Amino acid sequence: MNRPSYRVTELLGDGIGAELSEAVHRLAEALPVQLEFVPVDLRVENRRARGKALYDEAVATILETKVALKHPTATTEESPNAVLRRRLDLSVIHRPVYTIPGVPTNFRRELDLDIVRIATGGTYDDPGRMIGDDGAVSLRIVERRPVREAARYAFNLARKTSKRVTSASKYTIQKATDGLFEKVAQEVAGQFPEVPHSVELFDALLGKVIMAPEKFQIVLVLNEYGDFLSDMACGLAGSLGIGASSNLAFDASAVVRVALFDAAHGTAPDIAGKHLANPTAIFLAFSMLLYQLGEIGLGQAVKNATLDLLREGVRTPDLGGGESTESFTEAVAKEVARRVGEKAGPPPAA
Ligand code: NAD
Repeated sequence: MNRPSYRVTELLGDGIGAELSEAVHRLAEALPVQLEFVPVDLRVENRRARGKALYDEAVATILETKVALKHPTATTEESPNAVLRRRLDLSVIHRPVYTIPGVPTNFRRELDLDIVRIATGGTYDDPGRMIGDDGAVSLRIVERRPVREAARYAFNLARKTSKRVTSASKYTIQKATDGLFEKVAQEVAGQFPEVPHSVELFDALLGKVIMAPEKFQIVLVLNEYGDFLSDMACGLAGSLGIGASSNLAFDASAVVRVALFDAAHGTAPDIAGKHLANPTAIFLAFSMLLYQLGEIGLGQAVKNATLDLLREGVRTPDLGGGESTESFTEAVAKEVARRVGEKAGPPPAA
C-alpha cells in the first residue's frame, strides 16, 4: 500500500537545534507516512552570510509546502521569528498549555488551556519614542482583520472540541482598542451560537485561572496579554521548557494558508551538544503539525506517547530524569510505532 506523503519545510536552528532535528527525523521514521523535510538553514552564520536572500528562500519554501517546523534560533541582529511572522502574515498563535501528571510543578491544580493570541499589534509593533527627556509614548494598535481571524480560529476549535471560549481584555479602560477587540469577538461569537462564550477583564482572568483553572478552556486574547498569559500558564503547568505553538496565516475564507510550528524554548546554548536537550516541546510541535496535515491519529499518537512516557518517569535531566536526548527519542519512537502498529492491525498473512 502506498504511504501518504507530505513535504514539510524544516527551519534549522542554533544551539540544540541540530539535536532536535535529529530527534524529529528519528520519530518521523516511526510513522506510516512519508515525510520529506525540506531544510532551510536559519543558523546564525548562514543568516549573517546570506541576509535577506535566505529569508526569501525560507518564505518561498514555506509558501510552497504550506507547513513548517521551526527549531529555535538565536536572536542576534534580528529575530527570525519576528521576520517570518511579518513576512508570512502569521497573525495568530495557538499555544496549548496543560499540566502533565508526574511533571513537577508548584501548582496543585490541573490546567488545560488553549491560548489563542493575536500575533501582531497591541503594544508590540511600536517601540515608542521619547517626548523631550522625561516622557515617552508608544502606539497601541488593534486591527479588525487579525482579531477576526483569531476569533474564528478559536470558535472553530471550540466547535470541533466542544469547548467554550473566553475573550479577555481591558475593554473598560482601553475603550477604543480593546473595545474593538471585544466587538469583533462578539460578532464572530454570533456565528457560532452553539459555542459558549464569556468575557472577562484580563487582570481578573489571571486571578481566576489560578483560583479556578477548570473554568477556562479556550482563551482569546490580544498580543501582549497572550504573551503574559502563556508564560504564566506554562509556569503553573511546570512546563516552561515543554510548551509548543502553532503560528498561523489565513486566506480570505478563514482557512489556514500557512502553519509554522515551533517549541517555546530557545537554543539552550549551555547544554548544546551534550545529549541533554529535551525534545518534548519539538515533539509536541510536530504532533500539532501532523494534526494540520490531517493525520489526526498520528498527531494523537505522538502527543500521547510522549506525555505517557513522561508520566511514567522516562525523562531527560531537566525534568529530573536520566535519559539522554537520544534514549528519550528512541523510547518515544518505539512507543509511537507500537501504538500506530496496533491501530493498523496485524500485517497481512504472506
Ligand atoms: P533558553 O530557552 O534557550 O534556555 C533557558 C534555560 O532552559 C537554559 O538553562 C536551557 O538549558 C534550558 N532549556 C531550554 N530548552 C531546553 C530543552 N529543550 N531541554 C532542556 N533544557 C532546555 O532561553 P535563553 O537562554 O534565554 O535563550 C537562548 C537563545 O535562544 C537566545 O539567543 C534567545 O534569543 C533564543 N530564543 C529563541 C527562541 C526561538 O527561536 N523560538 C525562543 C526563545 C529564545
